[in-house]
This record gives sequence, structure tokens and C-alpha cells, in this order.
Amino acid sequence: MKSFDYFAPQSLDDATSLLHRYGKKSTLLAGGTDLLLRMERRLIEPGVIIDLKKIRAIKGIKVARNGLRIGAATLMDEIASSPLLRGRYGMVAQAAAAVGSIQTRNRATLGGNLCNASPAADTAPPLIALSATARFASSRRERELPLDEFFSGPGKTRLQSNELLKEIFVPFVAERSGGSFQRCTRTAMDIALVNCAVFISLAAEENTITNVRIALGAVAPTPVRARGAEDFLCGKTPNPTAINEAADLAVAGATPIDDVRSTASYRREMVRVLVRRAINGALEQARE
Ligand SMILES: Cc1cc2nc3c(=O)[nH]c(=O)nc-3n(C[C@H](O)[C@H](O)[C@H](O)COP(=O)(O)OP(=O)(O)OC[C@H]3O[C@@H](n4cnc5c(N)ncnc54)[C@H](O)[C@@H]3O)c2cc1C
Repeated sequence: MKSFDYFAPQSLDDATSLLHRYGKKSTLLAGGTDLLLRMERRLIEPGVIIDLKKIRAIKGIKVARNGLRIGAATLMDEIASSPLLRGRYGMVAQAAAAVGSIQTRNRATLGGNLCNASPAADTAPPLIALSATARFASSRRERELPLDEFFSGPGKTRLQSNELLKEIFVPFVAERSGGSFQRCTRTAMDIALVNCAVFISLAAEENTITNVRIALGAVAPTPVRARGAEDFLCGKTPNPTAINEAADLAVAGATPIDDVRSTASYRREMVRVLVRRAINGALEQARE
């Protein structure tokens, strides 16, 4: 491994100053569960490593005025077991609990999962379905972007070289809402062949869908929304025929590839199955 300079700043200001100073020469390190593998394989040879682990300001889950703030350096294990991520937000905890093994979850962070930008990242679909936004920080300013606009390609995000992901904001959701996260893998501890999350809100006293967001992973170069299926379902009274049609529309919008984990045609079939299950799961929770 090529030698590098190592910094472990204790504050966000120090981290963003280092990013400003070293820019593209530097790489951020959180839990290292993705980064160290890439360094070991020499896919990346950073000159400077900026370790985020000592920055308390970007750790933990907090209740804010309009929603929940999850620091980028929050561990998967904390997310999986947080009492704040229950009920309608429970699909985020469920996705974090699906990441690797307990050892992995004790190192891996939410920010690392999102910034690594794997199309199969498990935490992306539930957060996108919940309309989460990403907050970035640089030494000059902070800015926000809806999470469904954060990814720009496999391994690529819209972060600038002088920015880091500070936190994810999940807005509070309406009464009579529900969510469901689904995934399928080859073995129990494997990256998803397909993952998916659905969030649905129902009208106050009827069964009409007033808001629906469907997010899919591992079926396109980035996590994506199934907008055709969302548009079709919104305003409808859900029934098995409509749910099947929405699942078919989600398949039509997916562009999976063949790879070592699955064929594209199997992935398409699993989109149909998982979207159907997730819609039913979200509806069940919304009606509780
Ligand atoms: C055995 C094993 C099993 C796994 N199983 C799964 C699985 O089932 N599902 C799944 O989704 N993933 C899985 N992963 C992948 C991995 O654990 C996750 O992607 C993890 O969340 C990455 O977080 P990290 O803190 O380790 O990131 P790191 O490896 O430290 O960083 C990953 C990337 O993100 C960047 N980065 C980190 N934090 C920030 C930040 N705050 N701002 C900007 N950039 C940042 C880094 O520079 C790097 O490019 C698995 C990994 C292993 C080793």
C-alpha cells in the first residue's frame, strides 16, 4: 500500500479545513469497511486520509423541529437499534440491520454507505422513500440536496471534492402513513440482488393513496425511484389489481444488468415481487 498522510480532526471545522487544503488529494475515512478494501486492492491510492471517527458533531440521531437528523458518522448498529427509528421510520433501521455482520455494523457508518454510492447500498431506498435530504459541509458553506438527487453513477455522488456529508434529514411523516423495506440476496450475509422501499400515505378517513414513493436499488447505475409506479398509484384506492399493475410499472422502469450476483431477468422478476410486498407492507402499517 502506498504511504499517505493521516489526519484525525476532532471538529467539523478542522475536517472541512483539511478538505479545503488537500482537495482531490485527500480521501475521507469513516468506518473503512468499503474504503480499506479499495485501498488494499489498489483501486484508490490517496495521498492524504482524513479520518472522521473523532468528530462527535456528525454522530448520533437527534429529534429536530420537523424531523430526525442522522449524523453521517452514525454507526449502522446504532441506527438498527435506535428507538427513534421505529414504526413509520422502522424501514431505515431494518435496512441498517441488513448490512453485513454485527462486526461490519459496528464499524460501518450511514455516511459511508451513501457516499460509497453502490447502486445496491441498503440504506438508500428507505431514506429516498422517506423524502430524506443530504446536508453537505465545506469550509465555506453548508448546502442540502434531496437524497434522490445525491447519486450520479456507480461510486459517484454530487459531493464536491471540498465537501463532506454532514447529516441526513428525515422529515416527520403524516398520520396514516407506512413504509416497508424489502431485499433479496443469494445468501444471508450478502449485498442485495435487489432492494426496495415503499412509503405510502393514506387520506384521513378513506383508503385513497395521497402520497407514495417507491425506491429501488441494484437495478440501475444508482438507486432510483419508480416514478411510473408512483404516478399510477397516487390518488387510487389500493386493490390487488392496482398493486400488481404498479409492480409491473416498477419493472418497466428498472434497467438491471447481468453480473456475478444475478441475471438481469431474475432481478426484473424480483422487482415485481419485492415492490408488491413492499406496497402491501406499507399499506398495512398506514392502516394500523
Ligand atoms: C463483510 C461486508 C458486508 C457488507 N454488507 C453490506 C450489505 O449487506 N449492504 C450494504 O449496503 N453494504 C454492505 N457492505 C458495505 C459497507 O459496509 C457499507 O457501505 C458501509 O456502510 C460503508 O461505511 P464506512 O463507514 O465503512 O465507509 P468507508 O469505507 O469509511 O467509506 C466509504 C466511502 O465513503 C466516503 N465517505 C465516508 N464518510 C463520508 C462522509 N461523511 N462524507 C463524504 N464521504 C464519506 C469515503 O471517502 C469512501 O469513499 C458490506 C461490507 C463488508 C465489508
